[in-house]
Amino acid sequence: MIKKILIANRGEIALRVIKTCKRMGIKTVTIYAQDDSSLPHAFESDESFNLGSGELSSTYLNQDKIIQIAKDTHSDAIHPGYGFLSENTDFCKKVKEAGLIFIGPSVEAIELMGDKTTSKVKMEKINIPLIPGYHGTDQDPKVLLIEAQKIGFPVLIKATAGGGGKGMRIVNSEEEFTEALNSSKREALNAFSNDNVLLEKYITNPRHIEVQLVSDGKGNHFHFFERECSIQRRYQKVIEESPSPALTEELRESICKTAVEIAKGIDYRGAGTIEYILAPNNEFYFLEMNTRLQVEHPVTEMVTGYDLVELQIIAASGEEFGFKQEDITQTGHSFECRIYAEDPDNEFLPTAGRIQKIQADTSVDYRLDCGYIDGNKISTNYDPMLAKLVVHDLDRYSAIDKMQDALNDILFGGTKTNRDYLKRVLNHDSFIEGNFHTHFIEFEKEQLKAIIFNNDEQATFIAGALIFDTLDVRNIWDEKFKPISKQIVIDEQEITFELTYLNRNKVSFNLEGHNYRFTTLLWEPGNIVLEYQGQMIKLSAFPINLFGEKQIFAGDYEAIVKVIPKAIRKTGVTTLSAGSLQSPMPGKIFKILLGPGDIVKTGDPVLIVEAMKMEHMIRAPKDGTINEIFFKEGDQVQGGVLLCEIE
Ligand code: ADP
Repeated sequence: MIKKILIANRGEIALRVIKTCKRMGIKTVTIYAQDDSSLPHAFESDESFNLGSGELSSTYLNQDKIIQIAKDTHSDAIHPGYGFLSENTDFCKKVKEAGLIFIGPSVEAIELMGDKTTSKVKMEKINIPLIPGYHGTDQDPKVLLIEAQKIGFPVLIKATAGGGGKGMRIVNSEEEFTEALNSSKREALNAFSNDNVLLEKYITNPRHIEVQLVSDGKGNHFHFFERECSIQRRYQKVIEESPSPALTEELRESICKTAVEIAKGIDYRGAGTIEYILAPNNEFYFLEMNTRLQVEHPVTEMVTGYDLVELQIIAASGEEFGFKQEDITQTGHSFECRIYAEDPDNEFLPTAGRIQKIQADTSVDYRLDCGYIDGNKISTNYDPMLAKLVVHDLDRYSAIDKMQDALNDILFGGTKTNRDYLKRVLNHDSFIEGNFHTHFIEFEKEQLKAIIFNNDEQATFIAGALIFDTLDVRNIWDEKFKPISKQIVIDEQEITFELTYLNRNKVSFNLEGHNYRFTTLLWEPGNIVLEYQGQMIKLSAFPINLFGEKQIFAGDYEAIVKVIPKAIRKTGVTTLSAGSLQSPMPGKIFKILLGPGDIVKTGDPVLIVEAMKMEHMIRAPKDGTINEIFFKEGDQVQGGVLLCEIE
């Protein structure tokens, strides 16, 4: 009997496991790194332990310390969540040697399926369809190039130990191969301490379909139907759903049956996911198996009604589920949207910051699996996912509607998120029709761009920013009754307008020949209520960074607004773009590729900044000669600092 579980993870997934444990009467122990001490997972459990600060290897990846805490607290089992130690065989072995239960499959299953190469070899043996490619042990770059030529370009390079899209590179031609291989190996070594790669034929316009499996403690294998996860950016899922709009009943049966065959073929225990690539001709290929709970498991819980964490615990206890495959049905339709702290309009770069307020007052019935509470800082040490928003309804259209409503109601004040972007995806005709593939986000880039606000909306944001910006207001106050010209940046668009401050509560300005007069009815931190032509307008506003940018929510819209101080008006916008020679975010100088005196052309790679476990290539913004590089490899840099000077 499992009576107490240590959860070796953080954030939303730690809270998710706590929820089921509470329902099952199981005590929980959590762990937290120093910089996570105010996150809810640190205090929602029965017992909690500080792992100190420092590198991940001394906190969430510190195997010995975590096992010692489990022993000291007399825990019976360890739940690893996803990521971190969830697919680490050394950890799994050590947990078992310490006499504890690892809530997951056997060491052998993780070993076999955790490596993209060994799993492919096994799948070949049990006749599971594979993507044409090379998964041999010879890693000589010359051999790899020959194999790539044999497969035929485009080819996809993957890290064999890969996950989360890390180390993955598409290569369109022979000339690109070497740079892509080196960069893939560097990222893989950094992320997985293993730089072996494999090659696959790059399937054009595929869909990502996966099947949830759970095998009980007695070797009975069940599938819980499919999830579609084709809406991805940087090879990472953003929106998931179940059922998939791409499958016919026949195809669904075949894909799910194949997944159960795999579970049988490897004598699996616990929860796992078989990922497939579905080609446009409806051929499906095994991609990989994840031997853990997936981020997107909630959509399966919504349509099947099963609690997957509970099933994991029952399986790990060695017990039988006591139900039959026919008992599991797929009812209605469910979506999950991953809310990331990132800027979708600036190449999805992660945004650090502090969550000042999570506003989730809504009548829509949704599930929000969120790892943060008001006031929590978003650390660049971890994944930028803040929360998962999940809805369930009778059919796909109703579920899309419900998700739209839920997204309108849930605000993460104080940090730029992809919330608005998710709404744009959900509004896209092809998405609504279910007609998309894994490159949807890339292909529909233009259509998914931020909407340009109309004059009235812009005026509302301008008024909000002016009211919010007390310092500026004081300047304006000094110049009472005298119209002054001001500049403002709204989502990177610069606007000049004529402003007159009538008194502390009334501001009047001209924008595109139209006069707007706003009265402040209420102004308190976070909340501003304005009146415009007798209509009340409620705004929420939060400072978003040290550059003076504010995040303003007005109804369904949100914008990043900055009043440009006089001193820097000439230089204009300070918003950074991903390609500039400034560091796009706080991070570490990972590699310097060129030095002073080197001649560069626009777009040439100059250096690599590593942040949030991803490599960000910094490229030359213009042709010229490198004058100076202000940092050396390994240096920590702040977001926005100038990294290099080009003459
Ligand atoms: P990871 O383990 O790093 O997440 P996967 O092998 O699961 O990598 O692939 C992640 C995503 O990359 C898939 O969902 C799919 O969108 C895309 N992908 C993977 N392999 C191929 C391929 N051979 N052709 C086209 N797209 C692919």
